[in-house]
Amino acid sequence: MHCPFCGYEETKVTDSRLAGEGRQIRRRRECLKCGERFRTFETAELLMPQIVKGNDSRESFNEGKLRAGMEKALEKRPVSREQVDEAVSRILHRIRVLGEREVHSRTVGELVMDELRQLDEVAYVRFASVYRQFEDVEAFHVEIERLRRHKRRRQKHGVGSGDQLQLIPPSEPGTPGGAK
Ligand SMILES: [Zn+2]
Repeated sequence: MHCPFCGYEETKVTDSRLAGEGRQIRRRRECLKCGERFRTFETAELLMPQIVKGNDSRESFNEGKLRAGMEKALEKRPVSREQVDEAVSRILHRIRVLGEREVHSRTVGELVMDELRQLDEVAYVRFASVYRQFEDVEAFHVEIERLRRHKRRRQKHGVGSGDQLQLIPPSEPGTPGGAK
């Protein structure tokens, strides 16, 4: 590909490796004229299903929106960019292998929660509190209680990190799945 800095036609690949658990190739390139270095990502272009929302309207799947929702929940949490990339890549993969032309937004939300639960408990609770707010209040309280019991048990045994569960203040604007 052409150099994005000077437009020269020839760039050299200096490194090429698999990323995203083998679903992506990451290459380092160097311009043969200006010497600038940059990276390229190669992923298979597969069609994503349409997303069916709560009110039965449809919209195209939007990876940026999915990532933004996760990043908001992960704000100021000790989770690296790379871990988020990998989680997003796993979610996309799981949506694709469903093989459906339409997928309910609830299904996507559950996949996000699965990943956040593994990445960071606080982010998981933040996301779940916003996401499940209207449809499933009871299930959410059960989940919080479960996490608290789990945390107390760990603290009793001296392996807790000292982190407290923190929820996004309810007045926070622009959170995913909020009132429409
Ligand atoms: Zn160049």
